[in-house]
Amino acid sequence: MHPFAFTKVSDTREALDAGRRGGRYIAGGTTLVDLMRETVERPETLVDITGLPLREVTVTERGGLRIGALVRMAEAAAHPKVRTLFPVVSEALELSASAQLRNMATLGGNIMQRTRCTYFRDVTADCNKREPESGCAALHGFNRTHAILGTSDHCVATHPSDVAVAFAALEARVSLLGPEGERHLPFADFLLRPGSSPQHEQALRKGELITAVEIPAHPRPLRSGYLKVRDRQSYEFALTSAAVALHIRGGVIREAKVAAGGVGTVPWKLPTVERHLVGERPSESLWAAAAERAADGARPLEHNRFKVELLKRTVERQLRTIGGTK
Ligand code: SF4
Repeated sequence: MHPFAFTKVSDTREALDAGRRGGRYIAGGTTLVDLMRETVERPETLVDITGLPLREVTVTERGGLRIGALVRMAEAAAHPKVRTLFPVVSEALELSASAQLRNMATLGGNIMQRTRCTYFRDVTADCNKREPESGCAALHGFNRTHAILGTSDHCVATHPSDVAVAFAALEARVSLLGPEGERHLPFADFLLRPGSSPQHEQALRKGELITAVEIPAHPRPLRSGYLKVRDRQSYEFALTSAAVALHIRGGVIREAKVAAGGVGTVPWKLPTVERHLVGERPSESLWAAAAERAADGARPLEHNRFKVELLKRTVERQLRTIGGTK
């Protein structure tokens, strides 16, 4: 591990000052400290923000949710409002990491976490994300767990967060505070596809701090849930996953929110699947026909072709689980 300075801040103004000077925010530290040990990350200054007042979960006026950036994963998953209003968020959190990590890691850190591509974590391997312009060892290496959607010739790594898939499906917004004030970014604009510069992963400006994630209100009743398919049943990242939320009234699907994980360089929203569902009546054939569109545009690699079919089946199964057939 490289030497670094450490400072703890007690209010947001202090945090932003430290961030503007190039300090790196740390809360749970469950990703960053690992990466520092492996010398993948070498921050000069760590700014401990755990003392900031960003730990609230509140229901917004219209019935959405605002989850503070420093709420622990386990706290968010167990929160009664999260569980009742958006079970898809609770389930995605509970299927993430291990109990120990969920007790430590924060929501803000979770959506900021970096890829689990093994070449990214091996400082002897070529990796454009870690070392721009050095190449991508995964393109022609062992790429079974890598992305099939949103990839580029520069990077094919998946985004590892589960809850980010639920946030993408629900069209959440990320609240940010920076030297120039507050702003809110749609989740789809917050995480960046790799393009030719995979080292840029979020649309954060220098010194900006994530303060909360806001889930907008959706028509009620809203059934939702998260399905994660992985090589083993716990403490493993998704091969594929599906976050589904459906508003069904009078036997007709009025609103459908669907996103996939484990397959994209960012959480992968599925608008063509959603459009296929809205206005229709739940049925076995509808779920199959909609899920058939889940892998549109996929560009599989040598070892991950199986993800195309697995993704369709994951989405179909979760549509059936959430929507039933009536
Ligand atoms: Fe690096 Fe991305 Fe290639 Fe992995 S897929 S080696 S993270 S550039």
